[in-house]
Amino acid sequence: MNTAATDNLAGPRAAAARYDAARVRADFPILATRVHGRPLTYLDSAASAQRPLAVLRAVEQYETRTHANVHRGVHALSQAATAAYEGARERARRFINARSVREVIYVRGTTEAINLVAQSWARPRLGIGDEILISALEHHANIVPWQMVCEQTGCTLKVAPIDRRGEVIQEEFLKLLSRRTRLVALAHVSNALGTVLPIQQMIAAAHAHGACVLIDGAQAVPHLRVDVQALGADFYAFSGHKLYGPTGIGVLYGREELLDAMPPWQGGGDMILSVSFEKTTYNELPFKFEAGTPNISGSVGLAAAMDYLEGLGIEAVAAHEQALLQRATAELERLPDLTLVGTAPHKAAVLSFTMKDVHPHDLGTILDAEGVAIRTGHHCAMPVMTFFGLPATARASFACYNTFEDIERLLAALRRARAVFA
Ligand code: PMP
Repeated sequence: MNTAATDNLAGPRAAAARYDAARVRADFPILATRVHGRPLTYLDSAASAQRPLAVLRAVEQYETRTHANVHRGVHALSQAATAAYEGARERARRFINARSVREVIYVRGTTEAINLVAQSWARPRLGIGDEILISALEHHANIVPWQMVCEQTGCTLKVAPIDRRGEVIQEEFLKLLSRRTRLVALAHVSNALGTVLPIQQMIAAAHAHGACVLIDGAQAVPHLRVDVQALGADFYAFSGHKLYGPTGIGVLYGREELLDAMPPWQGGGDMILSVSFEKTTYNELPFKFEAGTPNISGSVGLAAAMDYLEGLGIEAVAAHEQALLQRATAELERLPDLTLVGTAPHKAAVLSFTMKDVHPHDLGTILDAEGVAIRTGHHCAMPVMTFFGLPATARASFACYNTFEDIERLLAALRRARAVFA
């Protein structure tokens, strides 16, 4: 029987069992670091993932052999840098299955991508009586830019509520859609709770009302295969640094007709065709949205990160992370005084929790002393914390390099914390 057939029969559990996390781990030099004299247990990849050697080397190679400014030089290095930068754009296009590289805009990250759409798509189009619909589990990056547009244009922000499991209540979401809804902006995966939203059906429902849809994919691209055409999203935003790539680089995907009709967001070099004091004409897509010298080495690192993740196999990584999530969930549920926050049946590799009578920051500090890096706080999703009546949670998040041993270390550190605060 060939491997594909075995996969079909045995499914994700077999894929997860075959996955060699120890080998993957060895690709990430930083994971060999010791923290406070202990081996590092890195459980904060939802904030920023670590980079494999393949990414570090690609960036080093670019910096040591290829760097020059892009697009404007006739000399060899400039042409090589341009080829690297535009080659990386084509890599990103393939990664999300966009139709054309004209639909792939480089940005600093998800935050900048959403602000670009807010200021260049929404602000010129929306006014009094129009509505923007988001969900109650959004990251601040998918709340504040829309509030700014509301202040600027007089349009109204509507919020689809969530339930105690941390899922968007679909009936309420549908009820909030109307002909006034011009834009729907949703996370694909919640960073605070890990909930995976059923965005394909939500996008279809929004489109049925004539609304445009932006998906915040910051937490999705490392864990799920994303095909923007199959999803039907009008805009899709993500950051390189959550995807094993560098900081300061990300992608805004936008449907070409929409991007074409939008005014540039920032003015400067590279986004123009010609400039005179009387009139400036703008460059074509995607350059119209890329004013100034871009993050060239970042684009190279991002492409290497996509190669790396697809080399491991996104589905294989996802199956491994799901196995970790299931084990960790079962173990944490058994710990006394520990409450999981966000219990949706369909989750990505995030576990938010609280420990009775222990502030999450104190918990984070105790775990840090054990070498266990988790995140504590509101996770830039204050409304989610308010909904659950909490000031903060502790959050452990998994990536391709985490192991079952990491879970054991987390559990041991949590038991130690419980003893300290007993
Ligand atoms: N949306 C979500 C769901 C996120 O998790 C994050 C990062 N925490 C962002 C947006 C913002 O991403 P960045 O800081 O890379 O712009």
